[in-house]
Amino acid sequence: MTPAPARRLVLLGATGSIGAQTLDVLTRYPDIARVHGLAVGGSRPRLVVEQVLAHRPEHLVVSEPERAGAVSDAVGAACREAGIPAPRLEYGQAAVTELAGSLGPGDVVLNAITGSVGLLPTLAVLASGARLALANKESLVVGGDLVTREAAPGQILPVDSEHTAIAQALAGVRPEQVDHLVVTASGGPFRGRTRDQLADIDPEQALAHPTWAMGPVITTNSATLVNKALEVIEACFLFDLPEDRVEVVVHPQSIVHSMATLIDGSTIAQASPPDMRHAIGWALAHPEKLPGLAAALDFSTAQSWTFEPVDETTFPAISLARAAHREGRGAMAAYNAANEEAAAAFLAGRIR
Ligand code: NAD
Ligand code: MG
Repeated sequence: MTPAPARRLVLLGATGSIGAQTLDVLTRYPDIARVHGLAVGGSRPRLVVEQVLAHRPEHLVVSEPERAGAVSDAVGAACREAGIPAPRLEYGQAAVTELAGSLGPGDVVLNAITGSVGLLPTLAVLASGARLALANKESLVVGGDLVTREAAPGQILPVDSEHTAIAQALAGVRPEQVDHLVVTASGGPFRGRTRDQLADIDPEQALAHPTWAMGPVITTNSATLVNKALEVIEACFLFDLPEDRVEVVVHPQSIVHSMATLIDGSTIAQASPPDMRHAIGWALAHPEKLPGLAAALDFSTAQSWTFEPVDETTFPAISLARAAHREGRGAMAAYNAANEEAAAAFLAGRIR
């Protein structure tokens, strides 16, 4: 048996879409890191059991206290049956933040929590000196100034296909050589519709994303283009640019994940079939490359990649977010908070 790697990993939001794909990447590339701790919401105790048996974390945190009992019972019984020590279990939001900050330089924390509740864990990771693989874009939207001030150069590696793409496009490029960034958007399930045609959309229609399988909130945000709006702000903070130097273009095939246009007129793009394991593996292994991480493009069959402007009349989310970024201070937090409430109300069937 090969010895366990020295590098430790804490995964926040382990049972979500990004969380589960992260553990999938670690199963295939066990040398990246050993799983030190998992934080989960607690709504999927059986998946937590599978993850604990497969990855043997020392720590397990359930963020929702009322779900901790069920998770604890299920994990305890499964570990007894398997004859392995159970992870130390804690619960509550403060325990998530404590776990997030419990590692140090050389280790990595992947924050795949949904929503602004991910901000305090993000700040805790940055203070600890560990690498922050950041899927929780809301951290940057609500606390961009704070987060970028706390981050050491290179400490944050984005786990968002667009920003992972831009980071790769900018490898070897100096900041003053960048003219602008071009963030691609699939356009979501309602591309081509008018506002009137969207009046009676229900959650099931909004959750049918054409190219990506993701958690319910980000999928809803993709249908409204709020996700792209959050990503414009995310790009401004990650790459230190004003919003008018971050363009958005609709690219329905989701193959070109984003681009950077340089001052000499050259545009550098990163392209691969849509698969978040690419972004996850990039952020965990950087600067190494994981062989065979995800399928590569296959040009033996004909394909076309198309690009079109955003319909800002039907989808005002991006221009609103730009205004919030120009305004600064609390405006972006207010934008995100309004959206978190609206998305929750829509998914619960309370608003159209
Ligand atoms: P998801 O809803 O599938 O998973 C989020 C998980 O976090 C859930 O399992 C939930 O139980 C857990 N959780 C909630 N609050 C928690 C807390 N306080 N502590 C620990 N766990 C908590 O969402 P997702 O699609 O995996 O997205 C996660 C984040 O990654 C979001 O910010 C999203 O915008 C971003 N992101 C996702 C994708 C994707 O492909 N899914 C791509 C890019 C970025
Ligand atoms: Mg994205």
